[in-house]
Amino acid sequence: MQLRHQPYTLQLRHAFGIASNTRTSTPATLVEIEHEGVVGHGEAAMPPYLGETQATAAAFLDSAAGWLAKVENPFLREEILPAIDQLAAGNTAAKAAIDIALHDWIGRKLGAPWHRIWGLDPRKAPVTSYTIGIDTPEVVRAKTREAAGYRILKVKLGREAAADRALIDAIRDVTDTPITVDANQGWRARDDALRMIEWLAGRGVVFIEQPMGKEQLDDTAWLRERSPLPLIADESVQRLADVARVRGVFDGINIKLMKCTGLREAWQMITLARALGLKVMLGCMTETSCAISAAAQLSPLVDWADLDGAVLIANDCFDGMRIVDGRITLPDRPGIGVVKR
Ligand code: MG
Repeated sequence: MQLRHQPYTLQLRHAFGIASNTRTSTPATLVEIEHEGVVGHGEAAMPPYLGETQATAAAFLDSAAGWLAKVENPFLREEILPAIDQLAAGNTAAKAAIDIALHDWIGRKLGAPWHRIWGLDPRKAPVTSYTIGIDTPEVVRAKTREAAGYRILKVKLGREAAADRALIDAIRDVTDTPITVDANQGWRARDDALRMIEWLAGRGVVFIEQPMGKEQLDDTAWLRERSPLPLIADESVQRLADVARVRGVFDGINIKLMKCTGLREAWQMITLARALGLKVMLGCMTETSCAISAAAQLSPLVDWADLDGAVLIANDCFDGMRIVDGRITLPDRPGIGVVKR
């Protein structure tokens, strides 16, 4: 198996603000796996605050390429992907790029999309939220009007209470569309967090993602006992081994391919979360339609999806999953369902 990779910088349509930073581009790396004339596509998307870079991805992918060159049977997913994971600690986005490309290769070779291989009904794919970043009330109102085709909005909060309330009020000036809130660990004191959640519960908010610091599990458990809205773990849950420790702390988990090393482990996380009685959300970074379409293959299994990453960028180099009337719509193409533009 031959692995190729190249850096690709994603240009954001709008500067994007969350509680900790604002940015206008996201570094990514595109990956191809080729074997017997079939090419599978993959992608690593690496927002700077997560620690991976195009350079660390290139170093990891070079070492993985040497290992993959000896693989004669790419269908041995259960041998190959755990071995890739063992090559180094971290590098979860680079690992996800290989996982996605291998899944794409296998699906293309079988002539079937992954939702069909997994036995999932594409008609059960959920609606996706559309994310509105932290900005001035005027810009937030404009972005909310632009998002009129979406049936659920995702809002980034986690600053001081007055600023958070102003952002919600700006959206509610424009629309009654349900909102999911992501505080990105921004609320520090549990009493303040509870007061904010109680205020949000009266304003059409569906759930709260990562209200407090990722290590503040005791405070979050306290909050969950009193919260009128479900709490979803994002930063507190990266990989499969993290799922069990948030039982009783959060009501659900947000799975992202770039955190959890790809589709194989995402599937395992969904299975474990269900066994523990947790809700499941499928999220993304800013990504092209490559990684987004891969995640979308799993979407019929989840309660909520936030797979708007590709519509937030100006230079999407793949055609794949489409959002039609706010709903994830899976193409009937093999593998992860993408073609290069
Ligand atoms: Mg989040």
